[in-house]
Amino acid sequence: MGKKIVMSGMRPTGSCHIGHWEGALKNWVELQEKYQCYYSIVDWHALTTEYQDSKYIKPNIRELLLDWLSVGVNPEKSVVYLQSSIKEITELFLIFSMITPLGWLERVPTFKEQKIQLKDRDLNTFGFLGYPLLQTIDIIIVRGNIVPVGEDQVFHLELAREIVRKFNNFYGNYFDEPMGFLTPIPKLPGIDGRKMSKSYNNAIYISDTTETIEKKIKPMITDTRRKRRNDPGVPEDCPVFALHKSFSSKHEMKEISDACRKAAIGCIDCKKILIKNINDFLEPFRERRKRYEKLNVMDILEKGNEKARETAKRTLEEVRELVKI
Ligand code: SF4
Repeated sequence: MGKKIVMSGMRPTGSCHIGHWEGALKNWVELQEKYQCYYSIVDWHALTTEYQDSKYIKPNIRELLLDWLSVGVNPEKSVVYLQSSIKEITELFLIFSMITPLGWLERVPTFKEQKIQLKDRDLNTFGFLGYPLLQTIDIIIVRGNIVPVGEDQVFHLELAREIVRKFNNFYGNYFDEPMGFLTPIPKLPGIDGRKMSKSYNNAIYISDTTETIEKKIKPMITDTRRKRRNDPGVPEDCPVFALHKSFSSKHEMKEISDACRKAAIGCIDCKKILIKNINDFLEPFRERRKRYEKLNVMDILEKGNEKARETAKRTLEEVRELVKI
């Protein structure tokens, strides 16, 4: 038996921040040691919500790829590819659109939620309604068995399993029902204390320089109780401390936590420790990025496209036979 196949992807809508590392990329790097992984830059997915202003999608592809490579996604171990280069995905999507009930797509929670959240754009489109099916196709076309998912994606995966089941009932047991690999999504705060997000302009990026990290963290808000140096604080109410949890050792956190409660450490010194720890953490990524920047990374992507296309072609040929089309 060959290795199990992991499939995951990200939209090229901007650079990766440290929340992406904690919530996804860290896992991707580990999974590639044990499984055959397919990691896709899903530009058609970006188009489902960004179709009115799509010019940013293409330039983001190289940046996203560099982010992945810099954190240790290894193109020698994993297939790294661009979704829109695999035209077989569109045909399989079309075939599956024939058997996917509209009601299943309409009840996807993010369908309603995103329409409310993204009020500035018209999401009453066939493409937006169909994007969970497109996700299903992304997984099954490379015969994915395992999908790393956060809690917010569990519904999508369940839908994928239902759709696969329906296909298998009609045409014979061909596809495995993909299994979720539940990954906890840490709630990393941004530099303004809100959830870290590119759209809030509060993110710390994997590609940030040492100076940028310092510039971003120094003015961060802290626990509001610490108006003066000798006011004690509550670290649990401080976004700086929330970042320490991801980047500082247990020992440092204990020391900071005790000192903060007794006002034995100032916020400036506390932030200096965090700045150092984040920079130390990002340094190997920066080094690797420099090495990849000297190469033509789009060639690396093209090699991945070829591998993914080969698998996708095989799947599609077999599906055509099963569907008798
Ligand atoms: S000492 Fe550190 S944890 Fe305490 S309030 Fe200041 S920045 Fe936050």
